[in-house]
Amino acid sequence: MLFEQLNLIEPILQALKTEGYTKPTPIQAKSIPLVLHGNDLLGCAQTGTGKTAAFAIPIIQLLAKKAPSFSGKRPIRSLILTPTRELAIQIGESFTNYGKGTKLRYHTIFGGVGKQPQVDALRKGIDVLVATPGRLLDLISEGHIDLQQLEIFVLDEADRMLDMGFIHDVRRVIKKLPQKRQSLFFSATMPPAIVQLAGTILRNPKKVEVTPVSSTANTINQAVYFVDKGNKKRLLVNVLQNPEIERTLVFTRTKHGADRVVKDLAKAKIKAQAIHGNKSQNARQGALKNFKNKVTRVLVATDIAARGIDIDELTHVINFDLPNIPESYVHRIGRTGRAGASGIAFSFCDASEKPYLKDIEKLIGKKVSVIDTHPYPLMIHEVPKPTPRAPRPKRTFKHKRKNR
Ligand code: AMP
Repeated sequence: MLFEQLNLIEPILQALKTEGYTKPTPIQAKSIPLVLHGNDLLGCAQTGTGKTAAFAIPIIQLLAKKAPSFSGKRPIRSLILTPTRELAIQIGESFTNYGKGTKLRYHTIFGGVGKQPQVDALRKGIDVLVATPGRLLDLISEGHIDLQQLEIFVLDEADRMLDMGFIHDVRRVIKKLPQKRQSLFFSATMPPAIVQLAGTILRNPKKVEVTPVSSTANTINQAVYFVDKGNKKRLLVNVLQNPEIERTLVFTRTKHGADRVVKDLAKAKIKAQAIHGNKSQNARQGALKNFKNKVTRVLVATDIAARGIDIDELTHVINFDLPNIPESYVHRIGRTGRAGASGIAFSFCDASEKPYLKDIEKLIGKKVSVIDTHPYPLMIHEVPKPTPRAPRPKRTFKHKRKNR
C-alpha cells in the first residue's frame, strides 16, 4: 500500500515525501481511512509503530478540508492529550511537519516551563493543541483555553497516563469536552482499567491493533554481558571503544545512577549527558538537542525520561542496569530499530539481575545471546545471602487452647 492510495490531500502527500516516508506503517494503513470516515478509534499500538502519524495525518486532513463553524478567533478544533513533555513536543513537531502545507496552526503546552508564551500563542488562536494533562487543566481553570468547539480528541498512551497517576486529570479533561466529537484512543496495552476508561470516551469505536510489545524485539540484535556491579563502568568505557557506536542511549534504573554514569564517562573523556526527572525542562531539552546534533555521544536516561524520545538513526541502546519490569526492556530496546530499521541492544547483567534477565527472556520468547569475551567477566556469581537472623525465642502460650 502507498500513501497515494489513502485519498490524502496533496499538501500532506508532499510533506510525507519530504519526510522520506514511502509507505504507511501497518497502524497508519489501518487507522487513516477509519479516522477520515469520522469513526471513533481504539488503537492498540506503542511508540515506534508510527502511531503519531496515524492520527496526525487524518486530523490535519479533516480540519484542513472543513472550515471551522465559528467566526472570529480560531477555536481549538483538536486536542491531543499525552502523558510526557517529550512526547508532547514530538507530537507537536509531527503536526508541524505533516501539516506544513496547510494553513492550520499547532501549539504544544506542558508544565515545567513558563506559562506566558503558551498563553500568548493561545490568545492568537490555534487549531490543534497538544498538551500534557496538568498544564492543560491549569490553563483551562485560568480561562485561557475553551474546548467547546472541539471536533477531534486524541488520548495518547492511555496506559502510561494510568501508570503515571494522571487518570483523574484525564477524567477532569474529558468532562470539559463537548459531547459531540470524534475520539481516538491509543494505548500500548489494554488492561481492564484502560478498557473501562475507553468505554467512557469512545462511541462504537473501530478497533485497530498492531504487533504486541513482546514481538517487536525480534528485529533488534540483543546481547548480554555478565559483569560484576562494580565493573559496569569499566565495561561501558570498554564497549564504547568500538567506533561503530557513533551514538548510544544508555539506560540506568535510577536518576542518581544516570548522573554517576555521566561522571564516570567524563573521566574517560567520553562526552555524555543525562536526562531524567530531576533535570529542568531546559536541561532535558538541551541534552536531547546535543545528542541529536551529535555534540554528545552518549545520552544516559531513566525509563520515565526516555519515554517518547525519538531519535533517528539510533543504532545502539545499552542497558547499564537491567529493568525489573520486563516490558520496560522491550520499550528501551525499541528506541533503536524504529519503523523497521535494525538496531543493537547490549545489556549489563550482574548476579542480582539474573532473575530480571529470566523474566525478560520469558516475555520476548527467546534467549539473549551472551558475550563472554570481555575483560570484566563475572566473578561474583551468587548474590550474597543476607546474614541469617538469630533464631526467635519459642512462643509460649499462657493458656492452652480448648477444643483443639
Ligand atoms: P511513532 O510511533 O509515531 O513515535 O513513530 C516512530 C518513528 O517512525 C518516527 O521517527 C517517525 O518519524 C517514523 N515514521 C512514522 N511513519 C513512518 C513511515 N510511514 N515511514 C517511515 N518512517 C515513519
